[in-house]
This record gives sequence, structure tokens and C-alpha cells, in this order.
Amino acid sequence: MKLLDPFSVVLMAALMCAVMSAVLFGARRGFPAEVRGLTYWGAALAVQVFSAFCFALRGTLPDVLVLPVANVLFVFGNGLCVIGLRRFYGLAPRWPMLGGACGFALVGMLYYLVVEPDYAARVAWMSVPITLISGAQLVLVLRHGRRKLATLFFGSLIAVNTVLVTVRGVVALTHGAALVDVTRPGLFQGFYLAVTALQPALLAVGFLMVAYERLRLILERRSASDPLTGVLNRRGFGDAYAREVARMARMRQHARTLALLSVDLDHFKMINDRFGHAEGDRVLVSVAQMVGSALRESDVLARFGGEEFIVLLPDTDGKRAIGVAQRVQRLLREAHAGELPSCTASIGVAVQTDPEEPLDALLSRADEALYRAKENGRNRIETWQAAA
Ligand code: GH3
Ligand code: MG
Ligand code: MG
Repeated sequence: MKLLDPFSVVLMAALMCAVMSAVLFGARRGFPAEVRGLTYWGAALAVQVFSAFCFALRGTLPDVLVLPVANVLFVFGNGLCVIGLRRFYGLAPRWPMLGGACGFALVGMLYYLVVEPDYAARVAWMSVPITLISGAQLVLVLRHGRRKLATLFFGSLIAVNTVLVTVRGVVALTHGAALVDVTRPGLFQGFYLAVTALQPALLAVGFLMVAYERLRLILERRSASDPLTGVLNRRGFGDAYAREVARMARMRQHARTLALLSVDLDHFKMINDRFGHAEGDRVLVSVAQMVGSALRESDVLARFGGEEFIVLLPDTDGKRAIGVAQRVQRLLREAHAGELPSCTASIGVAVQTDPEEPLDALLSRADEALYRAKENGRNRIETWQAAA
């Protein structure tokens, strides 16, 4: 039964790899630099195109020339995917291992073509580096992949591929050439040929899905955080506050409270004027870190712009909120020893007990308290109190 014509399948594979290579290089240009590894995947697919063309030259050029080159390129292309994946997960590439795999493939191919021509032995030999490479990809995804649908899809593709190349190697050893020779007609041969031809492009699609998932995460984080200090911005704070208030509403019977600190640096304009805007920026970054270090895991720190920070303290009453504000002021006093200009902060405290109160109202109460702290001489803490 002749299912597929190997020559056409290989050409189709080359075409798909070429398209995916272009897509990956295109994504490389469009994605932020934090999404790494796309270049390696683009290059890997380009290498697979050359590998497929070499395979297609069988019959035109002697096997001794075509097969070692095509197979080494195939291993190299697969290895580049591992390197790309390592870069994607922030790991250093392992070039010597890839070199070793390519050398291993070359030696085996030449030996079983020239010294002791044996098709089954070549298939079994080649399945070793390819299985190891595929296995390495699987380990990387299992270890570092986020538990998301894209990762599941990508990991499954790799797992199927790993099993398939292993089975083919074992079948070559146990059953000889007949079952594994893709130029012969047969169900297993045809199936293997089709899957092998599809595999590089399919894996690239899987990787791209994982990369898009990463992109989504990065953009989400960016839209919620302040680029200078890395703490939340107004939008990110709004989301965190909404979650906290929803939680508070569910616990209403226990009279839960939350507190808000409005922290504004004193005479910050003077720091800018005396030391320059860039130094002012460094002070802001350092203050954000310092305030963050004074907080609990569940507290939320944000910068709405300028030199004003907002802190949300869940499950916190006025007395404890003042304690946190004092800790912030103490840290500001103690820090910046010589390295950065020192600064002080005025802090307004407002407490919320009604989950129905809008954020704007709470913020303006904290701002009122802050204004009083400024009026009363700065470097102070004031708590909002209802007008008598
Ligand atoms: P006050 O004690 O009344 O708060 O005095 P102030 O100088 O801190 O207050 P004001 O609001 O008058 O000025 C805030 C200054 O903060 C003005 C601006 O130059 C500076 N500033 C705002 N955003 C940034 C920023 O992103 N980087 C730097 N370096 N400075 C900023
Ligand atoms: Mg200020
Ligand atoms: Mg200000």
C-alpha cells in the first residue's frame, strides 16, 4: 500500500518549515526582547528547510554525500530548538552538547554508509541523538513551563515526538530495515514519514503559542506597573484594591478594616533641583524598594506618578497603619547612607470599614490627611478624622 510519495512529503515539509521560519523571525522583530529564543527557533526551521532539500537530492547526488549532510543538519536544527527553548526559559545554551550530537550523527552515518552499509543501523543510530534532544525539550518544558494550555499543547507534541523516534529506533534494531524505511510503502513507514515531516513546523507552532502566552503575561504586567520603580501603577492598584474589597465584603460580619497610606516625599523638587532629575529618579526607585521592604506580603504598594506612593494594608486598623507608616519613615531616615540624597516623607492614613465606599473617596480622605501632615510641618503622619 503506497500512502505517500516521500519526495512530495519532504518538499511539503520544507515549504512549511520555510513559512514557520519566516513567522518566527517576524515574531522576533515584533515581540519585546524579554521573549527570548525566537531567533534560534527561526534559524532552526531554516536549517530544517536545508535538511529537507538535502533529503530531496537523494538519487540526484550520491547517498554518501547527501545523507550525512541531511542528517547532521536535521540534528543541528533540532538542537537549535533546544537552545532556543533554554534561552526562552532564561538558561544558558549548551553548544558543546549540540556539537557532540552532530558529531555523533556524522560518525554513525559515515560508518554505516561507507564501512558497513546498513540502513537499519543508521536509523537506530540517528534515533539516539534525536531522542535525547527531544527528551531534553520535554524536560525543559516540564520543569520550566507555566501550567497553561499552550504549554500542554507544546509539551504533548514533544512527548509524541520523543516516543515516536524512540519506537522507530527500537523497531529498527528489532525488525530491521523493512518497517522503518520511509521510501518503502507501508502504514508505519507512511505514518512516520508524515509525522516527521510535520513535526518541525508543528513544534514551531507549539513554541509560538508558548511565546504568545509569555507575551500576554509581559503586557499584562507592563500595563499594571510603573516603568520607573516596577511597583504597581494606578491601574494595577485599582485591580488589587478591587480584589481586596471583594474579599473584605465577604468577611463583613467580622468587621474587617483596611488602611491606606498616602506617602509623599517632602521637598522633592529640591532634590531634583540640586542633584538632577536622574538622581531624583534613583531616589524614587530606592524609596519604592524601601517602602516595599517595610510591608507584608499581602500589602500592596503603588506609585500613581510623581513622588507619591500609595500603600494598601489589608486587615489593618488605624493604629497598626500608623505603626507601618512609622516604620516607613524610620527606614527612610536610616537609608541612603551617603549614597543617595536623603529625604523624608509625609504620610496620610485613612481607614476603610465600609466595602461600599469607592476607592476615590478613600484616596481623597488619605490625601486630606496627607495635606494636613504637610501643613503641620512635613515628615509627619496624620490620620483622617471625620470633621467634628
Ligand atoms: P512637598 O513637600 O510639598 O511635597 O514638596 P515637593 O517638592 O515634593 O512637591 P511638589 O508636588 O511641589 O513637587 C513634586 C516634584 O516631584 C516635582 C517634580 O519635579 C518631581 N517629580 C515628579 N515626578 C518625578 C519623576 O518621575 N522623577 C523625578 N526625578 N522627579 C519627579
Ligand atoms: Mg512632595
Ligand atoms: Mg507630590
